[in-house]
Amino acid sequence: MSGFFDTPVEYLKGVGPQRAALLNKELNIFTYGDLIQHYPFRYEDRTRFYSIREIEEEMPYVQLRGRVVSKELIGAGYKKRLVCHFEDGSGQIELVWFQGINWINERLKPGVEYVVFGKPNRFGSHFSIAHPEIDVVSVASEKAGVLQPVYPLTERLRSRRIDNKVLSRLMQQLLLIAVDKIRETLPAQLLESEGLVSKKEAIIGIHFPTDHEVLRRAQHRLKFEELFYIQLRLIRMKLIRRDKYRGIIFNDAALVTDFYQHHLPFPLTEAQKKVIREIYADLRSGHQMNRLLQGDVGSGKTIVAFICMLLIVGSDAQCALMAPTEILAQQHYNNLRRYADAMHIPIALLTGSTRRKDRNDIHEGLRSGGLKILIGTHALLEEEVQFRRLGLAVIDEQHRFGVSQRSKLWQKNEDVYPHVLVMTATPIPRTLAMTLYGDLDVSVIDELPAGRKPIKTIHKYDSHRLEVNQFIRRQIEQGRQVYMVYPLIEESEKMDLKDLMDGYESACRAFPDVAISILHGRMRPEDKDFEMDRFARGETKIMVATTVIEVGVDVPNASVMVIENAERFGLSQLHQLRGRVGRGAEQSYCILMTDYKLSRESRIRIDTMVRTNNGFEIAETDLKLRGPGDLMGTQQSGVLDLLIADLGKDGALLQRARDRALEILEADPALETPQHAMIKTQIASMRKTTVNWSRIS
Ligand code: ADP
Ligand code: MG
Repeated sequence: MSGFFDTPVEYLKGVGPQRAALLNKELNIFTYGDLIQHYPFRYEDRTRFYSIREIEEEMPYVQLRGRVVSKELIGAGYKKRLVCHFEDGSGQIELVWFQGINWINERLKPGVEYVVFGKPNRFGSHFSIAHPEIDVVSVASEKAGVLQPVYPLTERLRSRRIDNKVLSRLMQQLLLIAVDKIRETLPAQLLESEGLVSKKEAIIGIHFPTDHEVLRRAQHRLKFEELFYIQLRLIRMKLIRRDKYRGIIFNDAALVTDFYQHHLPFPLTEAQKKVIREIYADLRSGHQMNRLLQGDVGSGKTIVAFICMLLIVGSDAQCALMAPTEILAQQHYNNLRRYADAMHIPIALLTGSTRRKDRNDIHEGLRSGGLKILIGTHALLEEEVQFRRLGLAVIDEQHRFGVSQRSKLWQKNEDVYPHVLVMTATPIPRTLAMTLYGDLDVSVIDELPAGRKPIKTIHKYDSHRLEVNQFIRRQIEQGRQVYMVYPLIEESEKMDLKDLMDGYESACRAFPDVAISILHGRMRPEDKDFEMDRFARGETKIMVATTVIEVGVDVPNASVMVIENAERFGLSQLHQLRGRVGRGAEQSYCILMTDYKLSRESRIRIDTMVRTNNGFEIAETDLKLRGPGDLMGTQQSGVLDLLIADLGKDGALLQRARDRALEILEADPALETPQHAMIKTQIASMRKTTVNWSRIS
C-alpha cells in the first residue's frame, strides 16, 4: 500500500488534528493504512436472538427481545439504581442501571417491545444485565442481522469521546474512499490454490461482516497473508545468509577422538549424538552456522557444546560460551574445566567480578590465541575482549539475552563471522519456534540421559505446611538437599524480599539443627558465589532463594524443590525451576505450595505441572494460556506483534503458510519471475515499517 494509504489519518473526514494526535499516541495509528489495519478484536453477534431461558453462566453477549413488565428505583444516594423486570415469554431477567437513571426511567415504557443487548451475570438464582443497550424494535431492526465490530481502544480514548461507535464510523468513512484503492498483495495462483478471498473482500469483511461465513473467510485470508510474509522473509533471510556468509571449515577431529576414547564421563544419549552430528555437518559446510539447540532442562546440552568446541580447538581456533548470570557462568566453567584440564586445553572465566590482573591475562591470552575457551557473562561483549580467531560462539539460555547483545558476539570476528550455537532450555512450541527462529536451523535433544527417575510433582496448600516440613526433614535425614523458592516480581521487589526473609526465618525455626543458605539477586556476587558453593558442596542442606536459581544451576544431590506461592509463577518458569532437581540418581520431588483460593488459570498451571514433566507439552499449554507475547524471550523480538494471526491457535495455518513460502522460494529464490513480482513489491514495502530482521538470530 503506498501513496493513498500513507495519507495522515488527520485528513480523514471526522478526525482532524486533535483526534489524530490521540490516535497516534494511543493506538499507533498514523496513516490511513494504519487505521484500515486496526482490526476488530471481537464482534457482537446481532445475528441471533436468545430466549431468556437459554441464558447460562459465562455467556458473552446476548441479544433478547421482549417487554418490560415493571420497573423500580431501589436504594438512595450513590447506591441508587433502576431495576427493570424484562420478560420474553420464556422467563424473566433483570436489567439494571446505576447511571443516567432518570433519563432511562422516563423513556422505558412497560408493554413496549424492546431489543436488549448485553452481558448476563448471575445473582443467586436469577440473571441480570447491567447497563444493556436497549432499543425499540423498529430501531433495533436496522442493526439486526449484523456482526458488530468491537475495536481495541484505550481508556483515554473513551474518556476523550472516541468510543467504539466513533471508531466504527471513522472506519466506514475510510472504507468509502479507500475501497477502490485496495490492491491485491498475494499472487493469483496462491489465492486460487488456498481458496482465499481477495484483499479487498477481506478488508471489507473484517470490518463489516454481513455474516459469520464472510467473517471467517476474511480472517482466514488476512491471517494467511500475515503468516505467509513472515515465513517468506525468514526463509529468504536464511537462504541469503547461507549464500553470503562464509564459515570457517573445521575438520580436524583428532581432539574429539581423544576425548571419546579417554575422557568421556558417560555414554552419550542417542539424541546427543544426533545433534552433534548435525552441528558437525554445519561446521564442515563452509557456511556460517546459525543453529538453535533446544533441549529440556537436564538433557545434557553442556557436554554437547564442549564436544563441538573440540572440533574448533583442534583447528587452532577459539571458542566463547556466554551465560546469562554469574552463577551459571561459574558453573559452566567448573564443569568444562574438568574436561579441558584433562585434555590440556587452556580455559578461563570472565565475568564482571574478574580481577583486573586476571582480566589482563585473559585479554592477552585471547589476542595471542593461547587461550582456547572463554566462558563468561555479558562481560564477553566488552570492546577489549578481542579474539585472535573466534571459531564458535555458544550462547546458553538464550532467552535472557537481547537480540542486539547476541549479534555483538558474532561480530567479534570481522572477516568471517564465527559459527553460532544458541542453546535454550525453554521448550518453545513448534509454531513459535517457526516464527521466532524461522531463520535458524534447529536441533532438538528429545531424550534425557538414562537412569533418571521422573520428578514427582505434588500440589499442597499452605495449610499442610507441617506435613511438608516433616517430609523435608526425612529427605534431609536421608542425605538429600532442598531448595525453597520464593517469587520475585519486579514491581513489588521489596515485598518479595520480605517474603523471602520471612521464609528464611521460618525455615530456621522449623529446622533449627539444619544449615541453611540464602540466595537472592540483591546480594553481592561474591556472597552469592559463597552461598552457592556451600550448598553445592553439601555444607548447607536447605537453600532458600528467589528465582535466581532458575537457570542452569546443577546440584545433583538436591532432590527436593519447594516452590512457595506457586500460583504466582508462570508455567514455563515453574518448569524451569523444577528442572533444578532430578539430576541425580535419587527420586526427586517438586512441591508446589499455594493458597487455598486459586484462579482458574492458576489451577490449570498447577494441574499441568502435576500431570506432566514434558517441557514441550508445558510450553504448548503456556502458549494457550498466555499468548505468545508473554512467553519468555519473545518480548524484545518484535516478531510477535501480529495484527491478526494467533500463534496459539493458528498453528495449522502457519504450517501451510510456511510450506507455501518454502515452495515459492525453492522454485524462485530471487523472486524474479513475473508471477512473484507482487511478492517482491510487498516485501519491499513492508521492510520500511518493521524491525531489523537480519539481527534476529
Ligand atoms: P542442560 O541441558 O539442562 O544444560 P546439563 O548439560 O547441565 O543439562 O546436564 C545435566 C546433567 O546431566 C549434568 O550433570 C551432566 O553431567 C549430566 N549428563 C549429561 N549428559 C549425560 C549422559 N549422556 N549421561 C549421563 N549424564 C549426563
Ligand atoms: Mg544448561
